[in-house]
Amino acid sequence: MATTPEPSSILSFEEARRLVEHHAASLRPHGKELVELLDSAGQILAEPILADRHFPPFARAMRDGYAVRAADLSPLPAILHIVGEIKAGVASKDLPVVHAGQAASIMTGAPAPDGADAVVMVEHTKRDGDRVQIMKAVGAGDNIVATASEATRGERLLSPGLRLDYAAIAIAASTGRSRLLVYRKPQVAVLATGDEIVDIDVPPAVNQIRNSNSYSLAAQVQSAGGEPVLLPIAPDEPARLRELIADGLEADLLLLAGGVSMGKYDLVEPILAEFQAEFFFTGVRIQPGKPVVFGRIPRGAASTEASALHTYFFGLPGNPISTMVTFELFARPMIEALAGAAKRKVVFLKARLKSEIKTKTGLTRFFPAILLGEFENSEVELAGWHGSGDLAAMARANCYVVVPPDRDRIPAGEWVPVMMM
Ligand code: AMP
Ligand code: MG
Repeated sequence: MATTPEPSSILSFEEARRLVEHHAASLRPHGKELVELLDSAGQILAEPILADRHFPPFARAMRDGYAVRAADLSPLPAILHIVGEIKAGVASKDLPVVHAGQAASIMTGAPAPDGADAVVMVEHTKRDGDRVQIMKAVGAGDNIVATASEATRGERLLSPGLRLDYAAIAIAASTGRSRLLVYRKPQVAVLATGDEIVDIDVPPAVNQIRNSNSYSLAAQVQSAGGEPVLLPIAPDEPARLRELIADGLEADLLLLAGGVSMGKYDLVEPILAEFQAEFFFTGVRIQPGKPVVFGRIPRGAASTEASALHTYFFGLPGNPISTMVTFELFARPMIEALAGAAKRKVVFLKARLKSEIKTKTGLTRFFPAILLGEFENSEVELAGWHGSGDLAAMARANCYVVVPPDRDRIPAGEWVPVMMM
């Protein structure tokens, strides 16, 4: 029997977000695949990466200068006898040994020689033939990175669940990995709804709107680590909508856009209910995006041959900005979990508000905004939007200013929470 949404399932932003995170924690990626290191950026690592040698593998000079015994440097200036030159890449059999009263000229990246325990920067020295005058003292260990001080052989450098960024890729390269195991991307079905919506290759009549939501959602799905599967546009008509929802439930997650408001032809919730949907919330006290719906459908109700017990879905409001914001707030953590990414919390930074904000209490508001200013003088200003359909304002924005539900006025100059895009 269909569970129709409870009228009480309108949650605060924090309650809704925690509920989504709770469900996300039960999700697992499906399988792994090997990818070329050059293609791995942005993918989720599915294996631990261990140090295949010590890091660094030898005591390494961090500066150009002279390898010395720190104890030789008092009183200053000290005059030392130069016993050799060490450049990066030199074989260990060709390294000089530095005895008391001696120094070796050394380059950044070269192995520190036996006997020496520090490097004096060339700027603090004066050379005269085979002698060098040292003007500044160093402590033992200065300007030398000790063998294995960054990691010892066998130590774990990267863990499964990490999104591969340039630093992680550098680690994979420095451990000799030209291919990496990553998680397979989850399939995320995208279903735009609405009688007025036409696809972008069709000239729209005056009463029609081009479908932008499927494309913005596809881009967001990709950036979260999923593989978007675009379904045809669903009209506000039960039979076709039912058919397309059934298709969408074959994916690992279903995103619907539009048709979740209170209008007579907002059919998404009643049709989902026919599929035995369990609704976790049918609205969140936020703006934009208040009518957002989250739930799941038992796998058997739509298809039989899948491993997961449920297919989760989101009914996102159709106003383009609402669609984008609700995706970021709620759908992203579910996709990241299906993609195998380690759990992460939503964090707000703080920036100084440039101009006063006036609004109403009752909703947590996510206003598209622009971080301005330079260096430490960061300021944030609203992108001056004209409602939830204003794509131009959204394209100007690079963050959201978050206004808590108990505030109806924020004066200029206040430090406000900012969510980065
Ligand atoms: P709805 O949530 O279905 O009531 O739609 C709210 C508003 O968003 C309407 O003005 C729609 O024209 C617009 N809209 C809905 N779906 C899309 C879409 N796929 N692309 C662009 N605009 C849309
Ligand atoms: Mg609609």
